[in-house]
Amino acid sequence: MPQSTALHTASDKLMERAERSMPGGVNSPVRAFRAVGGHPLFIARALGSRVFDADDNAYLDYIGSWGPAILGHAHPKVVRAVADTAAKGLSFGAPTEGEVRFADVIIERYPSIQMMRCVSSGTEATMSALRVARGFTGRDVIVKFDGAYHGHSDALLVKAGSGAATFGNPDSAGIPSASVENTATLAYNDPSALSELFERDGARIAAVIVEPVSGNMGLVPPQPQFLEAILELCQKHGALSIFDEVMTGCRVARGGAQGLFGMRPDLTCLGKVVGGGLPLAVYGGRTDVMQRIAPLGPVYQAGTLSGNPIAVQAGLATLALLDEPAYERLEVLGSRLQTGLERALRETNTPGVVQRVGSMLTVFFHRGPVRSWRDAAASDTKRFGTWHRGLVTRGVYWPPSQFEAAFISLAHSEEDIDHTVEAALGALAEAVA
Ligand SMILES: *Cc1c(COP(=O)(O)O)cnc(C)c1O
Repeated sequence: MPQSTALHTASDKLMERAERSMPGGVNSPVRAFRAVGGHPLFIARALGSRVFDADDNAYLDYIGSWGPAILGHAHPKVVRAVADTAAKGLSFGAPTEGEVRFADVIIERYPSIQMMRCVSSGTEATMSALRVARGFTGRDVIVKFDGAYHGHSDALLVKAGSGAATFGNPDSAGIPSASVENTATLAYNDPSALSELFERDGARIAAVIVEPVSGNMGLVPPQPQFLEAILELCQKHGALSIFDEVMTGCRVARGGAQGLFGMRPDLTCLGKVVGGGLPLAVYGGRTDVMQRIAPLGPVYQAGTLSGNPIAVQAGLATLALLDEPAYERLEVLGSRLQTGLERALRETNTPGVVQRVGSMLTVFFHRGPVRSWRDAAASDTKRFGTWHRGLVTRGVYWPPSQFEAAFISLAHSEEDIDHTVEAALGALAEAVA
């Protein structure tokens, strides 16, 4: 594991070039965080629970490609599926057997999904789910919650948590006000605010979109009755409930958060884990709603690379390894990390709370509990920053923002977790000092 003396010459040199050709040197803003030496780490390869930077320093990885890497990196079965499929051609723009098998696997795991479409990113999945919800209901207004991120499409990039919040522009420039005038935002975990909105404006609401476990303001679980209220109010007023499980799907349980809580939303979005590290996402739900999509119905949605043969095989190979025992194992590892981090907070007298669901967790520098964006935003982000630098220096690649969830994979071992707790303790002691 690298110490502060580790060399980052290669990353530094790459960043100099990258900054000339790409805004901020990156293809997605969260990657631009200053790690060791003031630059992001360029990753050269990854295996199991570790990523290796361009200078060949190893790090224990809790970013997991921001969610997909639930098996750890470069699982041989997934790599083989990708290689074998690639040899038969990369993309046909025609239906394939793999897509049909993939749809069957998703539908088996998610009883609420009767019909589905593959797309290439979570952003496309949520954007398309909204369109079909609006097309189905004939209504325009959508409701989202503060601090929830549902991808970067115009209508949803409002009060959108992590990336945007960290970069100090919670609402992006370049979005016409007309694109968001039908987007209502409410506090997460506040069913009475939602109920009031429905009483006032229910006849105009097409859909409520929610992260059933919020991961984009840091890990914030739903309070009892919050999700139930969403489903009930939607049903009562003829709106559709959309669970955005791009992060939680096949992550917090075999059937996602809805499986964990025993719920059936009208529509669901999946991404990240389902593609096993390749660009693949899903939206789906009730048959009567999904039948409104072209060519069956008037709602248009399409994609040149949708259901790409390699991506669906990577997804199938990944999901095949995610059986019930896999989630039990992730729970064991998650619980071990949580307990260790709580001990580290206590031993260093650091005001903080660890919030976790399964293999997703956040250490909030806040006394807790954190139940909403307002709570999360009151965290000591400066102390988080110091702690984060200490972690990276100690060889732990942790999400760089207070408002992100860390991910554990099946490739993490007990020793990895214990090493991480040691690093966290050392970094906390530094952050307090
Ligand atoms: C990551 C994420 C998205 C966006 O997915 P992309 O593949 O990055 O477009 C949407 N919703 C949630 C909940 C996410 O975590």
